[in-house]
Amino acid sequence: MRTIFNYINTNCFLPWFLLSILSIAKFKVITFAFVLVVQQNKLILKRILITGASGFIGSHLCDRYIKEEYHVIGMDNLITGNIKNIEHLFPLKNFEFYHHDVSKFVHVPEKLDYILHFASPASPIDYLKMPIQTLKVGSLGIHNLLGLAKSKNARILIASTSEVYGDPLEHPQNENYWGNVNPIGPRGVYDEAKRFQEAITMAYHTFHGIETRIVRIFNTYGPRMRVEDGRVLPAFFSQAIRGEGLTVFGEGNQTRSFCYVDDLVEGIFRLLLSDYHLPVNIGNPSEITIMQFAHEIMALVNNNDAHIIYNPLPVDDPKQRQPDITRAKEILGWQPKVGREEGLLKTYEYFKSVVQHHKVDL
Ligand code: UDP
Repeated sequence: MRTIFNYINTNCFLPWFLLSILSIAKFKVITFAFVLVVQQNKLILKRILITGASGFIGSHLCDRYIKEEYHVIGMDNLITGNIKNIEHLFPLKNFEFYHHDVSKFVHVPEKLDYILHFASPASPIDYLKMPIQTLKVGSLGIHNLLGLAKSKNARILIASTSEVYGDPLEHPQNENYWGNVNPIGPRGVYDEAKRFQEAITMAYHTFHGIETRIVRIFNTYGPRMRVEDGRVLPAFFSQAIRGEGLTVFGEGNQTRSFCYVDDLVEGIFRLLLSDYHLPVNIGNPSEITIMQFAHEIMALVNNNDAHIIYNPLPVDDPKQRQPDITRAKEILGWQPKVGREEGLLKTYEYFKSVVQHHKVDL
């Protein structure tokens, strides 16, 4: 017996001892690797700043980038945005919000990979009410954000607009058209701010070599548009739902091309990750007169009290608008997927609930 024990002790203890150490070490290595991976994941989570985060388009962008597992930093001064649009994101660890006006110095701690500049009053009645803020966010605001992009070595995408084409003399509008804008007309504060924004963005790209992207957004619609923002779709939906007159401006012969917000967000997502720095139109080329649009909405809402009334055409109201999306198709492989029938139905569901609540608020 003794000899057997001696044998075991002398011949098995050492390998057993070494094995146990090894397995502990192995366990430690595995644990360490696991912790490292978790930590690295945290570190490699892309950080994106979205200005205008609580607005219509900004809030949909926040949702999309959260879904894509980015760390989203929303920023808004809430002059036209609605905090309710992003309230559902507040409990999330990878979302944070700064109540800040980007026309003032912008500070964001830690690293930043991307910036999306979407802050601006965007409906004609908003920028008529707030002409100076509109000019400031498109000039001082973009300057601050370009400076931030430079200091963080971040890529920046700016929200430009079909308004840079003004009342277009070319139809449809492609990105090489320089536009027909009245700089001193009532819409000039928005149009010229956006044109300046494109110019300074290109200057930062060529002079400082920062990575820039420019999206020219055509008329977009969907849930979270403000009931009272004055744009044609919220106006027509709320008037039709309440059984009021749909306020057609002019004779309703002017045209627009409406893009559903999910399509726009997909286009922006692709553009940000592309290596293309020149402007890209994102919009739905399906063009319609405002009168036809009023009739489509009346047919959908089906309220017998709804009817058409005529109001004067606003100054410098563009007569026609339709995006040429050849560039987006070629460079991003993008084109809209949601037709007007489907998009309007989804949007109607939203307006049904908010118009009722809005009535109560009044
Ligand atoms: N419009 C209208 N009734 C309204 C609001 C707008 O007929 O109550 C017209 C407006 O004159 C323009 C078009 O609808 O021709 C789109 O206007 P919106 O303000 O939505 O955006 P825009 O494309 O002019 O920036």
